[in-house]
This record gives sequence, C-alpha cells and structure tokens, in this order.
Amino acid sequence: MTFKALLTSKDGDTLSTKLVDLTESDLMDGDVTVAVDYSTVNYKDGMAVTGRLPVIQTFPLVPGIDLAGTVEVSSHPDFKVGDRVVANGWGLSQTHHGGYAQKARLSGDWLVKLSESLSTKDAMAIGTAGYTAMLSVLALEHGGITPDKGDILVTGANGGVGSVAIALLSGLGYRVIASTGRLEETAYLRELGAAEVIDRNTLSEPGAPVAAERWAGAIDSVGSHTLANVLAQTKYRGVVTSCGLAQGRDLPATVLPFILRNITLAGIDSVNAPQTVRLEAWSRLARDLDLAKLARTTTVIGLAQVPGVAESILGGHVQGRTVVDVN
Ligand code: NDP
Repeated sequence: MTFKALLTSKDGDTLSTKLVDLTESDLMDGDVTVAVDYSTVNYKDGMAVTGRLPVIQTFPLVPGIDLAGTVEVSSHPDFKVGDRVVANGWGLSQTHHGGYAQKARLSGDWLVKLSESLSTKDAMAIGTAGYTAMLSVLALEHGGITPDKGDILVTGANGGVGSVAIALLSGLGYRVIASTGRLEETAYLRELGAAEVIDRNTLSEPGAPVAAERWAGAIDSVGSHTLANVLAQTKYRGVVTSCGLAQGRDLPATVLPFILRNITLAGIDSVNAPQTVRLEAWSRLARDLDLAKLARTTTVIGLAQVPGVAESILGGHVQGRTVVDVN
C-alpha cells in the first residue's frame, strides 16, 4: 500500500521537493500512526522547503511542521484508534517526517487530542501560527494585561500569527491596532476585529529608544526595528510578546523601556512548548476563537502547490492561513 507525500532532498547546497509515493516502511519510529487529513504552510515551512534557513536537519525528509488527522494504530497509553489528533513542532520537519503526507508515524507524546468542537480542518486552519497566537495571548494575560489596560498592537497583521491574534484578542474584548504593509487589506483586518489599522512603515525604521506611550501590550511576529519601536511605545508596565523574525532576527533596542517603563518582553516558542502549555492553548483556542472568522482567513491547497506557496510566504505575499489537504 502506497501513500502520497512530499519529500525534500538535498543535492550539494540545493534542496528539491517532489511529490512521491511512499510505503509504511518509509515511516520513522513512533508509537502512533496517524491517517493525516490536513497540514498547513507556516513561515517556518517556507524556510524549510526553500532551504532559506536550515530547518530540515536530515535528508530526504517529509516537510510540514504540523498535521491533523485520525489515529490508525497506537501503542501509546493516551491514544486509541479513531482519536482525532493534532501535532505541531517537536521534531516534525526537522529530524522527523512531517505533515505533508497522507500518513505519519510519530511519538504519542507529541500529540494533542482535538476538542469535539474543532474539526481536523479547523485545527490546521489554526496550525502552528494560530497556536502561537494563542500562546502570545496567554503571555499577555499572564502579565496582567486585561482589556481595560489599553490597546493591543498586532504586527504582521495579515500573516498567520497576526490574523489569528486579531481574531482572538477582539473576541476577548481587547481593542486591537493592526500594523501592516498591506493597507489595501484594511477591510479584511477590520472584519477580523481590528479597531484601527496602521502602516508598518511607521514602525520599521530606527526610532527613539522611548517615545509616546501608545499600547498596553503587543504581539510581535516581525522583530528587528519594528520590535524595538514597539517596545519604545509601550505603556508603563506593558507586555510585549516576541515570536517571529519576518523583518529580521536582530533587536536594535536599548534597555530604557525596561528600566524606565517596567515593560516585559515575553519570548514565545511553539516548538518545544511543554504538553501542559499546549493543552491549555488548544483548549482556549476551542473556546475563544470564532470559527467563522478563522474560515475567512483560510485558503485550501493540495500537496503539489506547497513549494510555490512556500516561496510566496517568505515574500510576505500570503494572507492569513493556508491549509494543505493532503488527500
Ligand atoms: P506569515 O508570513 O503568515 O506572516 C508574516 C507577516 O509579517 C506577513 O504577512 C507581513 O504582514 C509581515 N511581514 C512580512 N515581511 C515583513 C517585513 N520585511 N517587515 C515587516 N513585516 C513583514 O508568517 P507566520 O504568521 O506563519 O509567522 C510569522 C513569524 O512568526 C515568522 O517569523 C515565523 O517564523 C514566526 N513564528 C514563530 C513561532 C515560534 O515558535 N516562535 C511559531 C510560529 C511562527 P503584513 O503584510 O500585514 O505587513
């Protein structure tokens, strides 16, 4: 019995990704086998498939940092045949075959059971990007940022993390300011729940180390000068989360926002987040995310279209979330 998969190989410095037929003997070790329904294209998938950053560490490998499907075989005590599950991060697409295949075998310790209210398609419309948005919201809450404290800025607003963050925050009663390079998408951002839309160019150049206080908190997926300016304009005792590097991995800032304004900069990692944190994030997503808004952010593609979308996402041309129907 064969199944379809994308396989990335390396020849010298060049990566190539092809649609192939694999058999179960090609799968890697694991105590759970999953019939995959959907995967997604995240920014990290773009970096993996194009080779822009060395995400994939062993070749050939099935890329795809997340997947959702149904358990087919399990010797893991927490999972039985028929359970609907989601996996993201851990070794997927780094050292272990990922989600761009009709079948996956992996450790049950990497899986989370899906809530009744989420389909496997919803789970991948959320995907790593949406789950990271939830981790960021949890970090704001942990820092005491409630809706009455003031506005929340979301950078990279049209992206996956940004779109889901806007939908989540507005649903929770926060007033959201969306920062984007695509002002022509203002109507889309307002539909998701943004109260105000600003031009990302106002944040992307070197600025003053502290400036007028504008937001109580921020969810940043952009890094570099943008993050430095976001910190400089955060209100006293505000919280800023940092998960991404779409502008750059540098952070050309000073300590002044921390020592003068008591700002907290909270790091967000989705890949190795402990299981307790994942369970909380997925249960909050099931409770707090408006699925109609999520559907509005989602485009569905097939396996063969992944390499093209991987290029586009790095160019900042993809809007919202891209779900991959592997079947
Ligand atoms: P997307 O490509 O979907 O979103 C990124 C958005 O950033 C774009 O849509 C664009 O929004 C904006 N952007 C793109 N290029 C630039 C630029 N040069 N300067 C300023 N803004 C830019 O990616 P994701 O949402 O999937 O991921 C966002 C970031 O978060 C990535 O860096 C990714 O690696 C990181 N990430 C990290 C995780 C972690 O575990 N720490 C998990 C998930 C994601 P607009 O057009 O609206 O300006």
